[in-house]
Amino acid sequence: MTATEVPIPTTFASHDPRTGAVVGTHPVHDAAAVEAAVARAGDAAKWWGGLGFAERRRRLGEWRKALVRSIDDLARVVCDETGKPFDDARLELVLAIDHLDWAAKHAERVLKRRTVPAGLLMSNQAASLRYAPIGVVGVIGPWNYPVFTPMGSIAYALAAGNAVVFKPSELTPGVGTALADSLAEIVEGRALFQVVTGSGETGAALCRAPGIGKIAFTGSTATGKRVMATCAETLTPVLIECGGKDPMIVDADADLGAAADAAVWGGMSNAGQTCVGVERVYVHDAVADAFTAEVVSRARAVHPGAEFGPMTMASQSDVVRGHVQDALARGGRAVVGGVESVRPPFVDPVVILDVPEDSTAVREETFGPLLVVNRVPDVDEAVRRANATGYGLGATVFSKARGEEIATRLRCGMVSINSVISFAGIPSLPFGGVGDSGFGRIHGEDGLREFTRPQAVTRQRFALPIAVTSFRRTSRGMRALLGVVKLRHGR
Ligand code: NDP
Repeated sequence: MTATEVPIPTTFASHDPRTGAVVGTHPVHDAAAVEAAVARAGDAAKWWGGLGFAERRRRLGEWRKALVRSIDDLARVVCDETGKPFDDARLELVLAIDHLDWAAKHAERVLKRRTVPAGLLMSNQAASLRYAPIGVVGVIGPWNYPVFTPMGSIAYALAAGNAVVFKPSELTPGVGTALADSLAEIVEGRALFQVVTGSGETGAALCRAPGIGKIAFTGSTATGKRVMATCAETLTPVLIECGGKDPMIVDADADLGAAADAAVWGGMSNAGQTCVGVERVYVHDAVADAFTAEVVSRARAVHPGAEFGPMTMASQSDVVRGHVQDALARGGRAVVGGVESVRPPFVDPVVILDVPEDSTAVREETFGPLLVVNRVPDVDEAVRRANATGYGLGATVFSKARGEEIATRLRCGMVSINSVISFAGIPSLPFGGVGDSGFGRIHGEDGLREFTRPQAVTRQRFALPIAVTSFRRTSRGMRALLGVVKLRHGR
């Protein structure tokens, strides 16, 4: 090595964001190591795909039970690397386990070969459709819910018959490794679910690795665009789950206590580091004062270090501070906390009223315990403002009479009415966004199909008397066909 060359690190450490203490050391997987992992996964995918639905379901059931047995140990790793409260980590695991169960149990019903009607014109055909595994799926995950979020891809990809290579966030490599270790015991050492650790370069290598059939990315919009650009080089399909700026709408007839509780939990739990967290509230003028009073008393009662943890990523404190400053500089009125609430690594709850819609606190993802509460004259205005950002992930509506009607007018992937974030815990509901929040779906039937390639097969049962797809076609035959079409479609 010459004097100017910088040695490439071969390991990196993960830290407890509360204390900065090192909690683990992990390899930096370079492109060669990632390619080797994907090659091993290719072999495992053939074996796993060949097992069939019933045997896959049995093995995933074993994994589910193993996860339940080790829930406290896994939760401790999550706490160490994210700083979140122990029960938040356990809740994340509980939800992930429930999704794994659903995916394993429903894969056969959703994906198995089924016959479909061939239609009048092709009535001599027996048509069928199946959803075949893709092969190797690369999963790239974030740090905020390091179990629940990637498992939305991992569990569904495995249930659909694929092998998985997972690149966890560099902040939570220990969680990813612990998850993979727990499945390894159940699949006889097959490389069915491997983890590659490192920085964004390791993720980029996964996108480029020969043999990758699809990339399921969850993270920020900016990185999502980079992942898409890398995957475009090889025409590798992508599922993109990005950030959000989720609104809550509080109608005049809402249960204000329940709405305030949901706003504070949806906005502050996990220190606001939730892709589908509540970031802005639009409350009907008629109930705005009463609702705000409920929010203020609840927000004052929660504290970082107790009900929620620190900013897991140190630089996020600067983003939160910037949004608070911008909201206040543009005339917003802080009723809980303020700029002084940002005291890294913790951020105290902040609630700001009447923030102009062009503030960064309204337009950009804050990912901290900041709640913007803006009053609106009616629900139409609430819907207009809710739909006015580039994001479109989730939303919350509190209304006794008009919940469904308001939900259908929102431009987003998921809505909870009279509760918050509930859609994420219902395995049969697809999860994903529109616009800057990405595209494609995890969870539910759509989430299973996302990790497959549909294969259409049709078998001719008998030859039709009129041959139109042959050079033997006659004008008499075409006239007969057009006669049928006129009868069927022309009236
Ligand atoms: P990032 O976008 O910073 O990172 C996401 C993942 O991508 C990490 O594993 C990261 O690795 C990796 N990565 C970074 N650069 C590249 C690259 N060039 N090619 C491939 N992979 C790369 O997101 P965060 O980890 O900060 O997560 C927070 C974001 O995730 C928020 O915006 C949040 O809203 C969103 N999110 C969305 C969810 C959804 O379902 N829609 C759910 C949860 C979170 P490394 O960490 O090593 O940089």
